This record gives sequence, C-alpha cells and structure tokens, in this order.
Amino acid sequence: MQITIERIPDNELKPLYQDPSQLGFGKIFTDYMFTMYYQKGKGWVEPKIGKYRPINIDPAAVVLHYSQEIFEGLKAYAAEDGRILLFRPEENAKRMYESAERLCMAPFPIDYFLESVTALVNLEKRWIPRAPGTALYIRPSLIGTGDALGVHPASEYLFFIILTPVGAYFKEGFKPISLYVEDYYIRAAVGGVGNAKTGGNYAASLLAAAKAQEKGFSQVLWLDAREKRFIEEVGAMNIFFVFGKKLVTPDLSGSILPGITRKSVIELARSLGYTVEERPISIEEVFDGIKDGSLTESFGSGTAAVISPVGSLNFKGENHLINDFKVGPVTEELYTRLVNLQYGKTEDPFGWVKEIGRL
Ligand SMILES: *Cc1c(COP(=O)(O)O)cnc(C)c1O
Repeated sequence: MQITIERIPDNELKPLYQDPSQLGFGKIFTDYMFTMYYQKGKGWVEPKIGKYRPINIDPAAVVLHYSQEIFEGLKAYAAEDGRILLFRPEENAKRMYESAERLCMAPFPIDYFLESVTALVNLEKRWIPRAPGTALYIRPSLIGTGDALGVHPASEYLFFIILTPVGAYFKEGFKPISLYVEDYYIRAAVGGVGNAKTGGNYAASLLAAAKAQEKGFSQVLWLDAREKRFIEEVGAMNIFFVFGKKLVTPDLSGSILPGITRKSVIELARSLGYTVEERPISIEEVFDGIKDGSLTESFGSGTAAVISPVGSLNFKGENHLINDFKVGPVTEELYTRLVNLQYGKTEDPFGWVKEIGRL
C-alpha cells in the first residue's frame, strides 16, 4: 500500500497539550488522520494521511440511516527506552474484519489495518504522552457511505483512523467501581450484533447507562436478554469473577464483545497457574459466592482501563459489596503484569507487544 501524505505546514500544527496528567479521554485530537475508500469494482483505493478534518458524506449515506458502522480501539504506548509499542494490534485488525462481515460491510484488509496504524502513529509520535498510565488512543472506524436510501448494504465505504492522547484512567490510584445490574433493559441478544464492535450497541445502551449514573453508579452490568439471569459484560468492558485461584468469565455466547484484554487476561492468568473457566455465570451464583465468601474479587477488562476493580453490585435495590470495596491481590497482580507488558517494562513471553517505531 502506497500511502499519500499531505503534509501540514509546521506553523499550522496544533499546539501540544501542556500537562499530560490533565488529559481526559478523547477530548483532543492530533493533526492528522488516515482515510481510505472502498468503491465497488475497484476495491480499496486512495490510502491517504492528511489533515484531521470533517468528513464529507452524502446525506443519504447508509451509515446515517441504517447504522452500518464499526470501530476499533487500541493504544500506542511509549516505552521508557523510546520504543513505540502496540499491544496485539493484529487482534484488533481481525476483530474489525469480523465485525465488518457481520454488518455486511466491505471488510478492511488486515495488513492494511496494521500498515495504516503504524504509518499514522509514527507520523504523529510527538503526540504520544509519556507520563505513567498515559497513551495515544487509536480509533479506526469503518462506515457505509454511498447515496441511495433503500435498505441495503452500502456500495461504498470509508475507513478512517483518528488519534487522541489519553490520560491515566485511574488518576487517584486504582479504585473500585460500583455497578448497577440492569434488570429491564438489555444490551444485546444472541443472534444479534452484540459480538460486533458496532456503534448501535452503544446507542442501545445509553439510556440504561444514564439512569444508572443518575442513581450514582459508574456503569451498567448487563444480563442476558432471554432470562435476565446470566451475566454478560459491563459498558465497554468484559467481566471476571475471582474465586480464590479460579477465575470465571462469561463465555463468548454471541452477545458479548470478544475483548482482547479479556483474551489476554485469560492467557496470562493460566500462565500464572490460575484456573480460568469461560462459562455462563448467573447473578445468583455471584451473590451466593459473595455471601459464603468464595467469591473474593471481581474486575472488568478493556483497553481503556485495562483492568478495573469492581467494588459493588446493585441489584433490585440491594447493594452487594465485593471484597469490602477494596482492590484485591489477584486484580492488582493481573493489572500490574498487563500494564508492565504494554509499556515494555517486562519481558514478553507471549509475543503480544509489537514495536512499530521509536520516539
Ligand atoms: C471494546 C469493548 C470491550 C473491550 O474490548 P478490548 O478489546 O478488551 O478493548 C468490551 N465490551 C464492549 C462492548 C466493547 O465495545
């Protein structure tokens, strides 16, 4: 792939953020973006890195009416020795390919994904923050464009990547979150698109999330659509329950997003001697475990926070505390090990960390 680069004159570049500890999530964007178009009969054409700017699409574009949209999320990390690192980016590329197939979209080739991410991040490396816990968040998206209103898969697509420097997720240290167990609204059903990373799943989740936040909870814990009994996942995270040396996480039933952090936690935990079970886990099993003391910890997993300790579950008006709302040793250990791998601080026996350039 021959990427055209449209240079921005130095005096038109944005000023860099001042204090990396004040970076939030997705509030400022870098100077450049990557774009590439799919046209029927031609395939993927015009790979370009140009100025970050509004995109021009027809008001009849399929994405605006029928939600043909998918995205990915990954981070570029600055290692202390100056390497620029990605964490399992080929997994994001593969997942985006699968999401595209589920939504009947032209999939973006896996090698193009890796090449375009690598080229854009290297060009924008001055934006990679170096303070602990910070990173450059990478947001690839694919949308159906075109100009006909009938319900149909688009004949044209736009793939683009934008970048945003993000701050440390846990600014005041590693802190547990309180979850609201949603017993009316659902996120996704088996057979639907819950296992594709598509915006529609988020649109469907916003009302329940807003209501939970109004009640003072950080996020929603979703139950299965059929029985509202089995645990699915949290907002933008998968979930784990710790029973001593055993971890239990819901299996990929079809309605859950197959998280790359989830997969990494499973592989890492097994390598450390934990037993990991991927199987349906009901809300009663969780409450029984809390009551008899066998359930010792719980945490969410996802690219944004990596690992987020869960301190309480609120279900039908009742609050269930986990580990007295404290961070447990298993959560702490898995978090530290994953973060150390991501920032290149420890040996990587798994081959997960990919150097794509130098600062
Ligand atoms: C992206 C996402 C996750 C986490 O996936 P990672 O690959 O670990 O970042 C979990 N649940 C949902 C709904 C998501 O969109």
